[in-house]
Amino acid sequence: MEIRYQSTRSSGETVTASQAILKGLAEDGGLYVPTVIPGLDCSLEEISKMDYQETAYQVMKQFFTDFTEDELKTCINRAYDDKFDTKEIAPLVQKDGVYYLELFHGATIAFKDMALSILPHLLTTSAKKNKITNQIVILTATSGDTGKAALAGFADVEGTRIIVFYPKNGVSAIQERQMITQKGSNTFVVGITGNFDDAQSGVKAMFNNKELAKVMDEKGYQFSSANSINIGRLVPQVVYYVYSYTRLLAKGEVESGEPVNFVVPTGNFGNILAAFYAKNMGVPVGKLICASNENKVLFDFFETGVYDRNREFILTSSPSMDILISSNLERLLYMLSGGNAEATQERMNALSGEGKYAITDEMRGQMKDFVGGWAGEAQTAAEIKRVYEASGYVMDTHTAVASAVYHDYRAKTKDTAKTVIASTASPYKFATSVMTAIDEKYRGMDDFTLIDELQKTSGVKIPKAVEEIRSAPVLHDTVCETADMQKTVEKILGL
Ligand SMILES: *Cc1c(COP(=O)(O)O)cnc(C)c1O
Repeated sequence: MEIRYQSTRSSGETVTASQAILKGLAEDGGLYVPTVIPGLDCSLEEISKMDYQETAYQVMKQFFTDFTEDELKTCINRAYDDKFDTKEIAPLVQKDGVYYLELFHGATIAFKDMALSILPHLLTTSAKKNKITNQIVILTATSGDTGKAALAGFADVEGTRIIVFYPKNGVSAIQERQMITQKGSNTFVVGITGNFDDAQSGVKAMFNNKELAKVMDEKGYQFSSANSINIGRLVPQVVYYVYSYTRLLAKGEVESGEPVNFVVPTGNFGNILAAFYAKNMGVPVGKLICASNENKVLFDFFETGVYDRNREFILTSSPSMDILISSNLERLLYMLSGGNAEATQERMNALSGEGKYAITDEMRGQMKDFVGGWAGEAQTAAEIKRVYEASGYVMDTHTAVASAVYHDYRAKTKDTAKTVIASTASPYKFATSVMTAIDEKYRGMDDFTLIDELQKTSGVKIPKAVEEIRSAPVLHDTVCETADMQKTVEKILGL
């Protein structure tokens, strides 16, 4: 069956998977969604005998139906190779009575690598299939991790350029260093004076600017997006939910059909939406626990049915979740409204106007799979320390938010279902916050000293990604005002 994609904001016209990947965002500003979520055509028991790459093929072939088997397998094998420091790609680690699904074994030690190592291949294959001759310009806003993962994925990929905007004062020191040392003659990194939401809004405005698109086309360029609004990001993330469930099956940790809870530290709502897609594909998922930090706009939404971004933006120790506009929620709203594009458009208009919208009781009734929770800064730090002292396992701040939220949920509900916590970053990426959480004596020490201390504490080898940036020269130092983002792009491209 061919799966086609349509915008969340207008019904009617549909596009193929490769066209949706190329465009990133639909012309009306909506997000592409599959008209139906496909099922798997082999059993979870069969998948439990497959490796990560084969599992990826089983999932992706259901969504990307205009790719040939050969095209998809080539993309998969180029992505999930020895860039990952473990053969399992996404290992499941049992500690402290739960399973941590480690999604940080790729090139930039954060979960964005899971999708961004394959997106460039999906994109260049899509360009070929659609006879595109323009150079593809990847425009990305990042709260820290996407930027580096996208830069690493696209660096020196022929026919592409990548421009990354990040909040100059809103990412960790290691995150910034990872980006500004990026090699590759087609890579550009720009700090902006605003926060992540400003960066994301600026990027969206450029995508929607028809005038700019015309000028670019004349010069042989067109935009595409590596942000999690691209369906080519979302689908590869479905894979590891299928993979982790089938690993539990393979080990006899769950029986066939036994539901498993997933806890996901959430910002833009991409990762947890992928888990929801996995559930809709047939994976027995119990609760989807959406964990937020102090920017708890999603928690409030699950509690009240009102999404309200009118609040202070808080910088936390889990910066990749410091987000007040969770873009991918639009895809869930569209599904919950029964595919009502008009209503979705109205809500999104309200969000960009008054900064809030409400959903209907009927839609709320369909959200029973989701549970919202949040953890503050002190609770997050305490969870890192607690798990370390109980089991020797050292986790990063984002994972700790999820872990703290899970234990609150479990205490409150007495739900003892087996639970997988998405572990979204290596603790090395946030060494300062992690080490001071474990012991106050580390406060004030510099990042690289703490990285050495972290190795002694955790017994986990320092990843290559961290070793590399110790001595790498700074190659990018552009900073601009939020209002000047487009001017900066024009300058980079020579428009
Ligand atoms: C991006 C990111 C998240 C949030 O994921 P979303 O898909 O935006 O919800 C959580 N943790 C880390 C480490 C991340 O990089």
